[in-house]
Amino acid sequence: MENALSERLTQLEQVLQSIKDAVVRVDSELKVSLMNAAATKLFKAGDSYKGRLIDDVAQVPIFVEFLREADKGEDTSLEFDLVRGPHTRHIRARVTQQEDGGQVVVLRDVTAVRRLERMRRDFVANVSHELRTPISVVSANSETLLEGAIDDPVFATKLLEAVNRNAGRLTLIINDLLDLSRLEAGSYSLHKSRIYPAKVAWRVRESLEEKAAARKMKVHLHIPEDLVVVADEAAFFQVLVNYLDNAIKYTPTGSAIELRAERRKSKVRIEVCDNGPGIPPKVVDRVFERFFRIDPGRSREMGGTGLGLSIVKHLVEAMDGRVGVHNSETNGGGVFWLELPSA
Ligand code: ADP
Repeated sequence: MENALSERLTQLEQVLQSIKDAVVRVDSELKVSLMNAAATKLFKAGDSYKGRLIDDVAQVPIFVEFLREADKGEDTSLEFDLVRGPHTRHIRARVTQQEDGGQVVVLRDVTAVRRLERMRRDFVANVSHELRTPISVVSANSETLLEGAIDDPVFATKLLEAVNRNAGRLTLIINDLLDLSRLEAGSYSLHKSRIYPAKVAWRVRESLEEKAAARKMKVHLHIPEDLVVVADEAAFFQVLVNYLDNAIKYTPTGSAIELRAERRKSKVRIEVCDNGPGIPPKVVDRVFERFFRIDPGRSREMGGTGLGLSIVKHLVEAMDGRVGVHNSETNGGGVFWLELPSA
């Protein structure tokens, strides 16, 4: 009988300790009587938690207050921020009252879930915001035309040109959004083969030659001809076009841009270096985010959608590569790089 009981206790202890959620039991005086491994880890409580007040162990006043009031109120769950060292976690706590006046609290780390939810909300808000301006131009101008402006050929042409320009902008945004959603869904088909970066870079430079010339810029290529990567040719081309197009857009007229490449162990690293303003250090981590722009006005004026770099990141990662950016130590300009597996 005693053996059976002790075996059952061991099993219960094993179950408790293997639960990923943190479980804490406090008595009627809010002294901790039990914590599982996840809970001691969450609160960084060590082994000597038994008998200590929950105030002392958790050090989160709002959480302690919640436990104090939990038996009176209807609320049995609470979300709060838990700061431990440099990290802040977002925690959801659920409490159940026990017959002896104690309470059992189950705590779950919901930081990642909340972050995803916020990203999704921001994304929808951003898309709506991006679409609103061009749509309002199309609708206002067509209304003005219908109200009589159509009879004034000079004015009508101006209005129609703006309609045309904004319809083009809507197409750009929607195409980028479709690319992104295909990439995120994993349904963007990539056909990997052996690609010579030097050859692709030539074509990229050619395709942007006019744009660079219009801004009096020169594009220099320093890519060894024998480098070979494993990549999807169209995707690789698009990535380099994006980097180079940005360098042309965000660097003052008359500057020079360089495309460099070198072998690094099993990878090939390709860099697009400009001598523009570079990226402010505090936003370096954010430039590959969807809709992130340093200067939204300038980006729109240059025909940007704010989605180019996030598409680049997805494409390169889908080809088993990595992307990044830093500022040049010599001239402070942006150095946008990518690494792809060497063939
Ligand atoms: P956009 O359509 O706005 O160009 P991207 O995703 O391509 O969107 O780039 C995001 C932002 O990163 C740009 O709006 C710009 O502020 C910044 N950026 C990109 N490339 C450069 C660069 N070479 N130099 C300086 N800033 C850049």
